[in-house]
Amino acid sequence: MATATLVAGTPARSAVPSTTEPLTPVWHPSPNFGERRDGLTPSLIVLHYTAMKDAQAALDRLCDPAHEVSAHFLIGMDGTLWQMVREEDRAWHAGAGEWHGQSDINSRSIGIELDNSGAHPFPEPQLEVLESLLHQIMNRWSIPPEHVIGHSDMAPGRKSDPGLRFPWQRLEHMNLAGKRSQSGPGNAPADNFSALAHAAGYTAEVDDDTLLAAVRLRYRPWGKGPLGPDDLAPLARKT
Ligand SMILES: [Zn+2]
Repeated sequence: MATATLVAGTPARSAVPSTTEPLTPVWHPSPNFGERRDGLTPSLIVLHYTAMKDAQAALDRLCDPAHEVSAHFLIGMDGTLWQMVREEDRAWHAGAGEWHGQSDINSRSIGIELDNSGAHPFPEPQLEVLESLLHQIMNRWSIPPEHVIGHSDMAPGRKSDPGLRFPWQRLEHMNLAGKRSQSGPGNAPADNFSALAHAAGYTAEVDDDTLLAAVRLRYRPWGKGPLGPDDLAPLARKT
């Protein structure tokens, strides 16, 4: 379905997803899961793309015991929603990495895979189901927008999904991802970049170039060249 039509006096996109009725995923169980450790419950949502040929190939992989990978959900390009692991259980989607100083992201998160090769935009039906699903998971587990992250955020250098074409700003406008700072460029000296990134959650130990690449994937995916004010602006403290 096409995006909302602009009508005078009404916003183009509401702050709440258009579909808030409960989603009914197609249950396609994966054997690749375990118990969340240390009694943890979901406090993060990690977004991925599959980088596979199509959704069926991704489903096969995510449910194959030989591969030892899974996710809670997969969303096809046409908006089909599959569930492979119960939200209460620990799916194997995040791997090594860290966010805000915390590791074992699998025990703390719900993983959502999007059928996308990384080389093309995310279709509207897929995004609309993602937005509804995020809204509902966030309500179920009291997860704030700031705790919706990309795989590349917690595994800088090792992972680059959901990639250059993922519409983070659209999610931010809908309160489904943490809003970038609006304080404008130039507020923070360049030597503060790693400290600002660290404070924003990027605590995995990586070199400066890898850190910059990860932050750009989230905030200005087509940014090039050396570190500049536009890289600092989205991270600048909101005070
Ligand atoms: Zn991933």
